[in-house]
Amino acid sequence: MLYSGYMKKKVYSGIRATNRLHIGNYLGAVKGMLTVQEDYDCIFSVVDLHAITTPYDTKILQTNVREIIIDYLAAGLDPKKCLLEIQSQIPEHTELAYLLSTIYPVSRLEDLPTYKDKKAQYPKYVNMGLLFYPVLMAADIMLYKGELVPVGIDQEPHIEVTREIVRKFNSMFGETFPQPHRFNTEGEYVPSLTGNGKMSKSVEGSYITLTDDLETIRKRLANAPTDSGKVGGQIERDKEGVGALFTLLYLFTNKQDGSLDHIYEKYENEYRDKTIRYSQMKEELANLIFNELQPLQEKRKYFEEHPQEVDEIIAESREKCLIRARETIQEVKTKMGLIYR
Ligand code: ADP
Repeated sequence: MLYSGYMKKKVYSGIRATNRLHIGNYLGAVKGMLTVQEDYDCIFSVVDLHAITTPYDTKILQTNVREIIIDYLAAGLDPKKCLLEIQSQIPEHTELAYLLSTIYPVSRLEDLPTYKDKKAQYPKYVNMGLLFYPVLMAADIMLYKGELVPVGIDQEPHIEVTREIVRKFNSMFGETFPQPHRFNTEGEYVPSLTGNGKMSKSVEGSYITLTDDLETIRKRLANAPTDSGKVGGQIERDKEGVGALFTLLYLFTNKQDGSLDHIYEKYENEYRDKTIRYSQMKEELANLIFNELQPLQEKRKYFEEHPQEVDEIIAESREKCLIRARETIQEVKTKMGLIYR
């Protein structure tokens, strides 16, 4: 394996193993990972310890983890350029999280929007792990001294928590960690197909997965809300409802070479002129999405048919991650006065 990245800028990111990846995860996170793997020292994780903070099925957790690793590979993450980690295989994540939790206030965690959202979503499942989530996420990034984090905009408050913990740690125990920043992508916020909020694995009806075929994509888009088509004026993509549909069209037509710009402009003009036919727009959008996903689905088949190759990639990454994780823990425990002779 050619991977060697010790001297480059460090990147860490993870995706929860809660369900199949959707186009929000792809545009908001995976596309950023694909960009940074070219130049930086990257570790991309499937964060199973985060997945168990919300209700889950023990029987399918492992399948979900593996499916995400395969999605990563199918999307183009290249084990010659980056490491693919399964979070719980590196126990140092939880060790560091505990150590960091001793320098961070509970009150700040209780105020975080993601914690409040999850509390509202699962009122009978409000556990310590859920509150602790941002500390574990900080530990995930800090364990590998991450400087760049390709994640969607929903994760910005957690990156801010990480920076706060970094500053606190460095000021208490000496300069140790860099302050990480989010690596943004154009699709940093992909709206839900329900027309409300963001696309999410845990909200049924909100997403299109990377493995959906054309027919499924059509069906899912059919449920996305529209309006009478007679509103007119300038379309506002950041508005709920039909704005979500236009955002998706924008994200799937906005290519660097400008080759698909005319499609977006056509529907924007029709919206303004009150002549828009949403069924036609949805049909065209379904084709655009499927065209982008089809090569990934082809590549996915290869990895599904070569499970041993996937096992080897996971095992090799794990070994390399463990070495680096142990180094950081050793350094942290020394600075915190926890190494005994
Ligand atoms: P989900 O909310 O779908 O369960 P995760 O919490 O596992 O997703 O997030 C995995 C990655 O995908 C994170 O980087 C997150 O910011 C990004 N992400 C999740 N949903 C979206 C979205 N709707 N738009 C853009 N990025 C997203």
